[in-house]
Amino acid sequence: MQRRVKALETVLAEKGYINPDALDKIVEAYEHRVGPHIGAKVVAHAWTNPDFKKALLADASQAVRALGVERTVGDHLIAVANTPETHNMIVCTLCSCYPWDLLGLPPVWYKSTAYRSRAVKEPRTVLADFNVTLPSDMKIRVWDSTAETRFMVVPQRPDGTDGWSEEQLAKLVTRDSMIGTGLPKAIDEVDT
Ligand code: FE
Repeated sequence: MQRRVKALETVLAEKGYINPDALDKIVEAYEHRVGPHIGAKVVAHAWTNPDFKKALLADASQAVRALGVERTVGDHLIAVANTPETHNMIVCTLCSCYPWDLLGLPPVWYKSTAYRSRAVKEPRTVLADFNVTLPSDMKIRVWDSTAETRFMVVPQRPDGTDGWSEEQLAKLVTRDSMIGTGLPKAIDEVDT
């Protein structure tokens, strides 16, 4: 696969269709700059700033832009917040649309047929596979991404985190908790 990619890259560069420097920049961005730590910062900010949370839920594209998050993937970003009554979960049933600019590279299972079909048919069982057990009366809402619209989950702020800084809080926010297939880390799981 690596050799095939290399061959394709060489041919496209020789023909002048792509600029190798630009490719290097994209690879560098996804290796070092773009990742779930960006989404975690957004969530931690929403946990500590009710006005930002309101703005995020009203128009996430605009709210994250105000934080300086450059978005290049998808036209609309929609943030959905978990509550004591409702748990949200994200899938792309058609393919693998994912908010790369906030969460980095999608996990392999996100693109699997099993996740894509089962997430809508039996979300509670899928969550159990991820070791997430929710109270039986908690509603689960599944959001289906499209090429234009990407979703992120704002998990509930864990109890016992009063007075924590945004940097400390961000350590609790996992990638899966922003897809809805996980919950934030327990407070004793992180070094603060
Ligand atoms: Fe997709």
